[in-house]
Amino acid sequence: MKAKEMICIVCPLGCHIKVLKNDGVYNVTENKCLRGKEYGIKELTNPIRVLTTTVKIKDALLNRLPVKTKEAIPKHKVIKCMEVINSIEIKSPISVGEVIVENILGTGVDVVASRSM
Ligand code: SF4
Repeated sequence: MKAKEMICIVCPLGCHIKVLKNDGVYNVTENKCLRGKEYGIKELTNPIRVLTTTVKIKDALLNRLPVKTKEAIPKHKVIKCMEVINSIEIKSPISVGEVIVENILGTGVDVVASRSM
């Protein structure tokens, strides 16, 4: 079986790692630390991402407020989450850390404001 090549995004070094599955066991190479091993295995089994984006805001200094998911969400739900975030408009004032969307798409993760506005 051919090894899957990917770039580890856990730290700025960006190691080009290889992940190979043999008899149900994952083997990661070219990683400079253990976090790269964990990342490589997770990318093949259950990839997750922190979603950072903006949402429409009314009566504020700018038209859009930066927001992010409080924790990583399953990668396959990112597009659907964007649809939810793009469909709403909030009203100022908003404080940093304030929940904008609670438990987005049943992920158990809230979308929160990245700044006050
Ligand atoms: S393997 Fe380790 S050192 Fe390399 S990018 Fe990932 S976290 Fe950074």
